[in-house]
Amino acid sequence: MNIVEFRGIHRSMDRGMEVLHGIDLKVEAGEVVALLGANGAGKTTLLRIAVGLLHPHRGTVRLFGLGYEEGALEIKQRLGYVSESELLLASSTVEGIFEVHRALFPTWDSSLESRLRRRFGLSGGRLRFGTLSKGKKRQVALLCAVAHRPELLILDEPASGLDPAARRELLEVAVEALNEGSTLLFSSHHMQDVERLAARVALIHDGRLLLDRPLDELRESFTLAVLPTESSVTMADLRRVEGCLGARVSNQTLRAVFEGTPQAVQADLAQYSKFDGLICSRPSLEDFFVETVEGQP
Ligand code: ATP
Repeated sequence: MNIVEFRGIHRSMDRGMEVLHGIDLKVEAGEVVALLGANGAGKTTLLRIAVGLLHPHRGTVRLFGLGYEEGALEIKQRLGYVSESELLLASSTVEGIFEVHRALFPTWDSSLESRLRRRFGLSGGRLRFGTLSKGKKRQVALLCAVAHRPELLILDEPASGLDPAARRELLEVAVEALNEGSTLLFSSHHMQDVERLAARVALIHDGRLLLDRPLDELRESFTLAVLPTESSVTMADLRRVEGCLGARVSNQTLRAVFEGTPQAVQADLAQYSKFDGLICSRPSLEDFFVETVEGQP
């Protein structure tokens, strides 16, 4: 069953500028999917549409098989969400925030709340949310998003701006708190987090889904080809080769990402032209991401 299903999602922002141009994406029960994309690619907009904070201008979004028109309350009770910005009321006390959440969610797990409060050092609760450090705010937001044991957790760069230890702990807690078979959709700019958590990667570029693959396949099935710029080949030549995902000039080299193993790509390219000084290798996830995104026309 699809836990999240985006179909043909279009969304415009100020002055009619379209930021999502027809996104189709499905997430099945139990999957952990990372949403990647450069700044401004449209990840937050898509996730805000998923959690019902924004409506698509065209297309449909369904969670747990339900649309927001018919099942907004049920969707919200089965969902947990941590946004990149703070949505909780700055003037509320931490205790007040937990009280509201306990009342909102019939499935609230008080023993999980107590456990996480001890782990995060949030036992007092009289402090105002607005006075907390960024790390503490994220811990409160995460606790609110997971203590009702959501079937789907959506995290939009939940750990951005946190130090590495705090970032790791926040994500570990998020994953530990999920019940077996729960689904996680998260956006991140940290490739280590993506590699540690995700089984599938969806890459958004300029409001379009550029790639949607299992992480294993990404690791094994793509090649970074690097050539000196003085070779007779141009960026346009590389982009015309079948299986090229992106190509660009950087640091006096031509760099292109291809689908296929390094050996296969090397052999393929040799058929097209004489590529002097060509080096083909498996890119790291970060190199794959940077070269593919920066290599778009
Ligand atoms: P980042 O990684 O920087 O968080 P993102 O992939 O999450 O980026 P979005 O925040 O979804 O990208 O933004 C997509 C585009 O929509 C950007 O061009 C952004 O400027 C624009 N945008 C987002 N929110 C608004 C808004 N409230 N009003 C106008 N434009 C907006």
